[in-house]
Amino acid sequence: MSKFIVLIGPPGAGKGTQAKLVSEKLDLPHISSGDIFREYFNNQSELGKIAHRYIERGELVPDEITIAMIRERLSKSDCETGAILDGFPRNPVQADALEQMLLEMDSEVDLVAYIDVPQEELIERLTGRLTCREQGHVFHRKYNPPKVANRCDYDGSELYQRDDDKEETVKRRINVYMQQTMPLIEYYLRKNLLVKVDGMQTIEQVTKTLLEVIGNKR
Ligand code: AMP
Repeated sequence: MSKFIVLIGPPGAGKGTQAKLVSEKLDLPHISSGDIFREYFNNQSELGKIAHRYIERGELVPDEITIAMIRERLSKSDCETGAILDGFPRNPVQADALEQMLLEMDSEVDLVAYIDVPQEELIERLTGRLTCREQGHVFHRKYNPPKVANRCDYDGSELYQRDDDKEETVKRRINVYMQQTMPLIEYYLRKNLLVKVDGMQTIEQVTKTLLEVIGNKR
């Protein structure tokens, strides 16, 4: 039986950090739509350049492009056992597309964990965030500093501030989340798949809670 877990929550809720930790624990691939876009951009592919125009403005990349990219990723053999999805779906159209894609794989979403963090907290989290160039590990200047300044604890690569983590863009991303992604909470509540997790706990506590709720669903 495959296991597909979706993490939703506002930008800065800790989805990326948690998805990495949970994917290691459960030995499932971590699929982050944002990481894939950034990888395409770093490789200077056409798709990466198009996506970048939206990302730098804090807007969503068009559904057509995003859905096709996730479809391709899910078709890889490592997803046969499932995946931890981080950043996709981000609106109901994408959620419908995901349901269809998984149906074609004879599978379905098992659980949607909504990592809840109050809006006031998000700006500080995002503007202080540092991201690793190689694999997208995330740190925070104040709340989760790396052991060695500007170096990733996991792979030693350089840490940088994402362009879209600058304050103006962060505000736009939060607005986009409120308008386009929040409806997913209702969407998945109706499907009886949503579990709310308190994102204000420590990183370790959030991981523990996530592993518990995922385990309970088995
Ligand atoms: P993230 O790394 O999840 O914060 O995503 C960074 C940016 O990539 C977002 O602000 C969007 O511009 C774009 N992006 C990531 N995932 C999606 C998605 N599912 N749909 C549309 N755009 C996305």
